[in-house]
Amino acid sequence: MTAEIIDGKAIAEDVRAKVKVSVAERLAAGKPVPGLATVLVGDNPASQVYVRSKRKACEEAGIQSFGVELPATATQADVESAVRELNQDSRVNGILVQLPLPSHLDEEAVLNTINLNKDVDGFHPVNIGRLAQKGREPAFVPCTPAGCIYLLEKTLPTLRGVNAVVLGRSNIVGMPVALLLVRADATVTICHSRSKDLPAIVREADVLIAAVGRPEMVRGDWVKPGAVVIDVGINRVEDASKKSGYRLVGDVAYDEVKEVASHITPVPGGVGPMTIAMLLQNTLRGAELAEK
Ligand code: NDP
Repeated sequence: MTAEIIDGKAIAEDVRAKVKVSVAERLAAGKPVPGLATVLVGDNPASQVYVRSKRKACEEAGIQSFGVELPATATQADVESAVRELNQDSRVNGILVQLPLPSHLDEEAVLNTINLNKDVDGFHPVNIGRLAQKGREPAFVPCTPAGCIYLLEKTLPTLRGVNAVVLGRSNIVGMPVALLLVRADATVTICHSRSKDLPAIVREADVLIAAVGRPEMVRGDWVKPGAVVIDVGINRVEDASKKSGYRLVGDVAYDEVKEVASHITPVPGGVGPMTIAMLLQNTLRGAELAEK
């Protein structure tokens, strides 16, 4: 059996087109244009690329974007006061502090400063806490995990009762995606670097989410026939045949696993494009929350 490819690029484009229509409808109804503010501290080249692509995606969807750039020498007080200013700015419906911050800054304290109803990245400790609690609703859900669940909902009729295995327990992907799966009534196993006999645990999975940052770690013989595989990993591996000298691979050995799984996300073109699509959706939600 060769797996069906879950086309994250096309699904993300569809979400972005819907956000664009909703933004236009808001304008036609005389409502303000939604706004997203990005806060970039320092000159990490990867962060600069991410922020640029998020701002470009906003533009394409008709969302106004505001860029705040602070030098690598910015103090904790500088960053927190920039966030507080954005909290007060009614044109801004979402505030995204690009992580990682330079190591002298206290990331949790900065995230704590963001107004809960503008926390479009969903990383505010209160929003994460609500995600973990039954009967509570976070104002926003983190974008990459939300993108994974969106792809699963497009693929499976329900997640209720499915055995889901999440590889990775990071704050930004593994743990929130596991919490979302629990909320969707899946039975969830979370694995990490201290887990024993990963292949045996993964073989029980109807749904597998791989978010470890280890190139092609999940092999074909780890996967249960017919499983749905969501590969979050983005890893550079050397490839002399490419002009850049490298290519991108996921955490899953795609060529092997696609012969066993029923559905699989490619890398690139799977989860990656969903992250920005969910960010735009969250910013639109921020604009709606501002009217309540
Ligand atoms: P982290 O490095 O923060 O977390 C990795 C997790 O994997 C940790 O929980 C770690 O365990 C676990 N782990 C590492 N090695 C192993 C191993 N050999 N066996 C079992 N578990 C292991 O990574 P992130 O969560 O930030 O990212 C994961 C991947 O997803 C990366 O490739 C990243 O580039 C990608 N990513 C993609 C995004 C997208 O938009 N598509 C967005 C964000 C990330 P422990 O906790 O014990 O250390």
